[in-house]
Amino acid sequence: MKAIDGKKIASDIVDELTVSTASIQGPKPCIAFVRVGEDPASVSYVRGKNRTAEKIGITPILCAFENSISQETLNAKIDALNADPSVNGILVQSPLPSHLDEQSAFNRIDPTKDVDGFHVVNAGRVVQEDANGFVSCTPAGIIEICQREGISLEGKHVVVIGRSLIVGKTFALLAMQNGPQANATVTVCHSRTRNLKEITRQADILVAAIGRPEMVTGDMIKDGAIVIDVGINRVGDASKKKGYKLVGDVNFAEAEPIASRITPVPGGVGPMTVAMLMKNTVKAYELQNQK
Ligand code: NAD
Repeated sequence: MKAIDGKKIASDIVDELTVSTASIQGPKPCIAFVRVGEDPASVSYVRGKNRTAEKIGITPILCAFENSISQETLNAKIDALNADPSVNGILVQSPLPSHLDEQSAFNRIDPTKDVDGFHVVNAGRVVQEDANGFVSCTPAGIIEICQREGISLEGKHVVVIGRSLIVGKTFALLAMQNGPQANATVTVCHSRTRNLKEITRQADILVAAIGRPEMVTGDMIKDGAIVIDVGINRVGDASKKKGYKLVGDVNFAEAEPIASRITPVPGGVGPMTVAMLMKNTVKAYELQNQK
């Protein structure tokens, strides 16, 4: 199948984690979600993560705060969760309101409980190729897709559009690592890149993490390339009940006939992010309970 079914791969991971969690004697792994305000997307993301955790047998705790919370109160909550031995993983839902310093909140989390992988120590571990760290969930999800779909990165030219820590930069670092499911030759493009099309047309594997609806058109893709579309963009659609539909950063209709494999939006990379968060939570539990 040309389209990669991320929903199915994520569901397989959830099933595997459900089995491994069921075999744990005593208290199950536990993840705390820290949410500030009532941003509808954040509420919905946390609700989805909460539901998946429950399905697996991971105990979720929701810590919800008013939008006006101070950095001190937020820090105090993170400190309390860090100190609580029954909590294995902590996730601070992004974005935080603009009066709060998001990276400082991420860096406040105990790195051994940083299941989102945004702490500076875990970002450093990716650079150092230290497998004991936590890799942020979306780039880890792309590597997992490649692994499970038999897509080797070895020696391939991987072109990543986007240089955010959450996706582009971290994926580029993973793809260039010296190890299995890596060893790619990586080019990173961004908003200041010149001649983008010339570069993307050289990609054996093209990863789009831009946040611009359908920006990657068919003429930017080499024949037979593998296309990984990370973008999740809402565009108005009067025919939908919600008034919008989700599209990726790639023009799927143009890319699909050219690519050898492609991740659709929705149902490609998106579902992998939650699955990898749960995988990281079970890993945190195991590392914290090592004899
Ligand atoms: P970001 O805004 O932090 O980064 C976007 C990157 O795109 C930047 O590095 C920028 O330099 C680059 N860019 C912008 N315009 C460009 C242009 N014209 N040409 C080339 N590069 C350009 O966004 P992000 O957090 O990395 O997210 C990117 C997309 O991925 C968004 O659509 C987001 O919703 C989606 N996303 C999906 C998941 C998931 O679970 N699947 C997770 C995180 C982000």
